[in-house]
Amino acid sequence: MNTLADIFSQDHAIQLLCRAYRANRLPHGLIFSGPSGIGKATTATALATLFLCPNPIIPKNDHEIPTPCGQCESCRLCAADKHPHPDFHLVYKELIRFHDKTGKSKGINLSIDVIRAELIEPAAHKPNLNHGKIFIIEQADTMTSAAQNAMLKTLEEPSEQSLIILLTDQPTYLLPTIRSRCQLITFSPIPTQTIQQQLIQRNIDPHLASEAAQWAEGSLGAALSWINDDLLTPATQIRQIISQFLVGRPPAADLPDWFKKAADHYAEIQLTRDPLSSKDQATREGLNLYLRFAAQPLRQQLRTESNPARLERLCQAIDALSRAADDLDANVNISLVFHQLSSLLQRQFLSPTG
Ligand SMILES: [Zn+2]
Repeated sequence: MNTLADIFSQDHAIQLLCRAYRANRLPHGLIFSGPSGIGKATTATALATLFLCPNPIIPKNDHEIPTPCGQCESCRLCAADKHPHPDFHLVYKELIRFHDKTGKSKGINLSIDVIRAELIEPAAHKPNLNHGKIFIIEQADTMTSAAQNAMLKTLEEPSEQSLIILLTDQPTYLLPTIRSRCQLITFSPIPTQTIQQQLIQRNIDPHLASEAAQWAEGSLGAALSWINDDLLTPATQIRQIISQFLVGRPPAADLPDWFKKAADHYAEIQLTRDPLSSKDQATREGLNLYLRFAAQPLRQQLRTESNPARLERLCQAIDALSRAADDLDANVNISLVFHQLSSLLQRQFLSPTG
């Protein structure tokens, strides 16, 4: 069973939650904000287990973390496989297709149908075990405006002892009316060293663990999924391509072509995992990820570069990568985005005057 005491590198968030829990002042709505893969969902589940336990162990010392008893029916259900607790409700993106009556959904947005069936209706009923109800909404920023508006009343007039936790890496995508009714708890990126240790503890080869931790930008979840999907190989390739640009040498691979192949491979992995997901969506997701990988060597160089002209070129290249990501979000034609990016990088780094 996961408890709040097991959460690492999020002391500030855990302290806030424990203080509110001890004072019996947990708000009905919480927003856990921060990049994905840093412990938001694990913390939400651990808080849920504590919240639902009727006999929690609350240490006298204020600095010690309260834990669920681990013995009661609620704790046993929380610890069981697939979390069958009747008062624990997880809202996640795979439910989108399940509730999609039109069959047209690409499984991207949490619609009003999902929120009504999975949150609003069950929230109106009494808890099954008479000790509160928990709702955790993953990727809450993917809720449509209609879905968010529909849940306002539930947030405003919660039935007794219910706790709604919204997980998001984009809190500003939530309506102001939602944000103002919830307490925001911010989660921080995990230190590289800690990610490396955690990976090694999970029996991952130390060399691979060190490499993945360097790429992970504070997300243990990202490091684990990249290792799992073997994405460190393309990450290294794009680093090499960008490094060649940086020393003014034309890269061995054609940039648009490399991105296309890498994204196709990424989409293939995602579609094998979930054959009903959208290929276009997965391709764009892959491209976004590789653009992030491509920006990393540039950012690293930015920290040590002192020559003003080279600094300027680095900034322009980083801007170009982030503009490409924006264009992808705006559904601009993929091939056009990468041809523009490629010609910009060539102008910046390979022109004879540069
Ligand atoms: Zn218990």
